[in-house]
Amino acid sequence: MTATNRQIRLAARPSGTVRPEDWEHHTAPVAEPGPGQFAGRTRVISLDPAMRGWLDDRPSYLPPVGIGEVMRAGSVIEVTASDHPGFQPGDQVLGTFGVQEYAVSDGKGAMKIDTSLAPASTYLGALGMPGMTAYFGLLDVGALKEGETVVVSGAAGAVGSIVGQIAKIKGCRVVGIAGGPEKCALLTGELGFDAAIDYREGDIRQRLRELTPDGIDVYFDNVGGDILDAALTRLAMHARVVICGAISQYNNTTPVSGPSNYLSLLVRRARMEGFVVFDYAKRYAEAAQEIAGWIGDGRIKVKEHVVKGGVDDFPETFQMLFRGDNVGKLVLDLG
Ligand code: NAP
Repeated sequence: MTATNRQIRLAARPSGTVRPEDWEHHTAPVAEPGPGQFAGRTRVISLDPAMRGWLDDRPSYLPPVGIGEVMRAGSVIEVTASDHPGFQPGDQVLGTFGVQEYAVSDGKGAMKIDTSLAPASTYLGALGMPGMTAYFGLLDVGALKEGETVVVSGAAGAVGSIVGQIAKIKGCRVVGIAGGPEKCALLTGELGFDAAIDYREGDIRQRLRELTPDGIDVYFDNVGGDILDAALTRLAMHARVVICGAISQYNNTTPVSGPSNYLSLLVRRARMEGFVVFDYAKRYAEAAQEIAGWIGDGRIKVKEHVVKGGVDDFPETFQMLFRGDNVGKLVLDLG
């Protein structure tokens, strides 16, 4: 009997929130590796807000996932068979292997990881793409300086939780914006932020006025919409607004609403700059080494939200990102 490979494929282009019927739960035979390839069993799959953008048929930094294609996803697989000189059975490999139980790869974009140093999930989070995003977005795009005031939205998430902790390491005052009292307590407690704002409760502008009396030097934006607009009213002179993401807009069925307070950039001689983490790929090793050091000496606490299940749980798990159900990096652990 041929072994089977459960896969999640894109069945239809979603409009707004992704519906269960936009996915196809598919069963394929497990493929053998060809010459120069290796095959592996998926252990952990990354769930990222950006995946929502990959479902839309519009120009972006990556081509859209095609209808009928296996959903694109970062993951860690364990090599089971190999005809590739660089990968041996038993190796743990990070790559873009998709939402499926088994994958075959020619090794392009794949990297062996050492799971004796950190769990596989951490290579998808603090030591992976979200960690790199926090590091380069804050230090390079945000050009952070000691003593500055940093505000970060999506602060209890994969990227935001690392942004705030790096800013603290760099000697800054840090205010996090997140949904709900538990997340805010996590920020000011375990994660060491100076203050937190629950954006679901009360007036964000008023809270920002109270908590950033000297204005915001770096605003690291993960959410866009009204929160971005509120932050723009508090910019200090020569502030930097880092456009990392805009999750509040990803399920819009109407055009993205832009910030109405953008003229504060003019008044404050500030700049607003977007970035895509992949542009920093050549420097990932440098960032990963520094973040690993901070994790090792306890200055960065890693928050991961691990859902145990199978690939069939992917569609429901993905929605957690948009409901704010995750604390830290969301991953699906296939065991
Ligand atoms: P995450 O923050 O771990 O998860 C998403 C969080 O967004 C949720 O937990 C929720 O937290 C919040 N959220 C959901 N809907 C919201 C809304 N309508 N308004 C405000 N907050 C909302 O995700 P992540 O992986 O760290 O990604 C964070 C952002 O970075 C995303 O926008 C993503 O696209 C972006 N990103 C960009 C790059 C890049 O290269 N530019 C790379 C990676 C990620 P609450 O409970 O606090 O609402």
